[in-house]
Amino acid sequence: MGKGYTASLERLMELLSRMPGVGEKTAERLAYHVLRLSAQEAAELADAIREVKERVKQCSSCFHFSESDPCAICSDPRRDRSTICVVEQSRDVVTMEQSNYDGLYHVLCGRLAPLDGMEPEDLTVSRLVERVGDGQVREVILACNADMEGEATALYVHEALKGLPLKVSRLARGIPSGSQLEYANAAVVTEALEGRRTMNREPETEQNRQVRDR
Ligand SMILES: [Zn+2]
Repeated sequence: MGKGYTASLERLMELLSRMPGVGEKTAERLAYHVLRLSAQEAAELADAIREVKERVKQCSSCFHFSESDPCAICSDPRRDRSTICVVEQSRDVVTMEQSNYDGLYHVLCGRLAPLDGMEPEDLTVSRLVERVGDGQVREVILACNADMEGEATALYVHEALKGLPLKVSRLARGIPSGSQLEYANAAVVTEALEGRRTMNREPETEQNRQVRDR
């Protein structure tokens, strides 16, 4: 940071600039904005940050962020318990909820990205296998992103579920290849969900698998 700022202003700018999408210029603008807030407005902002950290936890069943455990979705008796939609991050649940999907979720809390140090054991896959093991689940929908890491993650989860008596499907490529679920709108998500394809339709010969994958 440049010279001429007070120490506390510089500290605020430094912290703000660590946020995603915030460069030094934006951090400076935000910090000066905070400076112009009334004492009460500034306190509200600080409280909101503190509160979100204190109150929001992860659901112990699906790992979605929640202020209750189990989360509102897991504890809703109207949700279809025979379907679990697997997403990379909690934010993707919010995107999927724009569609007409009414099953449960499982948040992986990341994606396979060995270069970034994300290994299979960092994901919540073993917990997913436990969850589907109760025999209630008939279908697992893999809604990982349609980019390279997302595909690798989907394949890994598919592999982990192999042999279990359930259908595993993958969201259709309605979501433009290489893009992130979080940027999709309601219509696109609904379309991708409705056009989902089965990954493990059994019995299956090598030949018809190749036809399907073409
Ligand atoms: Zn939950």
